[in-house]
Amino acid sequence: MSKKHTIVVVGGGTGGIGVANALLNSRANLDIAIIEPSEKHYYQPGWTLVGGGEMSAASTEKDMADYIPKQVSWVKDRVASFQPQLNEVVLSNGDSIGYDYLIVAAGLVIDWQKIEGLEQTLGKNGVCSNYRYDLAPYTWQCIQRLPEGGKALFTQPPMPIKCAGAPQKILYLAADHWQRNETSAEITFCNQGGAMFGVPYYAQALDKIMDSYDAERCFGENLSAIDGDNKAATFTKADGETVTRSFDMIHVVPPQSAPQEIQNSELAGDGGWMAVDQHSLRSTKFENVWGLGDCTSTPNAKTAAAVRKQYPVVAAGVLAAIDGKTDTTARYDGYGGCPLTTAKGKMLLAEFRYGGEVLSSFGLDPAKERGIYWPIKTKLFPWMYWNVILKGKDWKLPAAKPWKLD
Ligand code: FAD
Repeated sequence: MSKKHTIVVVGGGTGGIGVANALLNSRANLDIAIIEPSEKHYYQPGWTLVGGGEMSAASTEKDMADYIPKQVSWVKDRVASFQPQLNEVVLSNGDSIGYDYLIVAAGLVIDWQKIEGLEQTLGKNGVCSNYRYDLAPYTWQCIQRLPEGGKALFTQPPMPIKCAGAPQKILYLAADHWQRNETSAEITFCNQGGAMFGVPYYAQALDKIMDSYDAERCFGENLSAIDGDNKAATFTKADGETVTRSFDMIHVVPPQSAPQEIQNSELAGDGGWMAVDQHSLRSTKFENVWGLGDCTSTPNAKTAAAVRKQYPVVAAGVLAAIDGKTDTTARYDGYGGCPLTTAKGKMLLAEFRYGGEVLSSFGLDPAKERGIYWPIKTKLFPWMYWNVILKGKDWKLPAAKPWKLD
């Protein structure tokens, strides 16, 4: 074993940096290593606004070095394999690092290659996606260049994906732009699922917004191939039948999966996602291991909003274990928030927790789009990301309350 740390955190994204700082905020002298290969850290929720022409891509990218806490040892490599029986991880350079406690926050993988022909045509021929930093600006170009009467397709793959609302957020921003510019457009949302949202209360509200844009919904259609040169997209239905649609622009959201290193390890559970208890976020297989963020099996929406509620729970669990306690009272309730940009200047803030229970932070009907939320999405949330979430702060804001449905 090359080195050993008290706590090893895998991944320096939202969850990894957030939880490392949350631990240090409680105990400044902890011996923590973060294993993260990337030199850059991204504010991914901003990419919807980049694609909608409302934020610069550059403002979503910062140097990782400025956000990894100074007291932490940054191991600039990736974990190639987990050895939880040995309390070790093996790096891609062959070194191994030991730990007393392991926290896994390795995010998820976007499977671009699972859509035939996609990689050859991404970023040209009207084929765009907000799911990558370098591609999001091209979405805005495609929206601006749509010809009069043009065909615009927006796709949504099988769940789970990160930010399940993002495939439709960009549809609304695009539709609003065309409406304002009096460009007629044929808008189609091809969704592998069967509804606009997993929580019926929000699905009903979003159906009305789709109607207001005269946008067609095609459920049960999964994008399987793209022919960029001929501007044709093929969708496969559950019974194997295929439908081919032509497009002037297509916003693609590919299927997503757990990182292969997790899938290949003993940490994996159903579908290859890291198996953790959905309330304590502790591995269901190894007592000294926790997971948070997009890589875990918890049935919440995979969002930064969820991570904000998860890192205090993981930090409390690890600190209790260090103190020799078996558990803590800190529990994650499945909170997820989805800021749906329904037009330039308007947002619907869908909040919910495990069981699809509808919540509201502001005491207002959360299924209504409101102009007052727009500065929250465009200004407050980015600020909170860099200054609160990544700093591991637990603001102890009043919890979102259950919203009584009629
Ligand atoms: P990430 O932040 O993705 O970090 C994972 C890190 O792990 C990466 O830095 C990666 O390099 C590293 N890593 C991976 N494998 C390894 C390995 N083997 N070894 C070491 N390191 C590894 N959330 C919201 O709350 N609101 C929104 O409006 C919103 N909109 C979104 C829109 C888009 C287009 C996208 C793409 C995401 C959006 N999200 C939104 C989701 C949010 O960004 C993620 O849920 C959140 O960043 C997840 O944090 P994470 O730490 O799990 O993963």
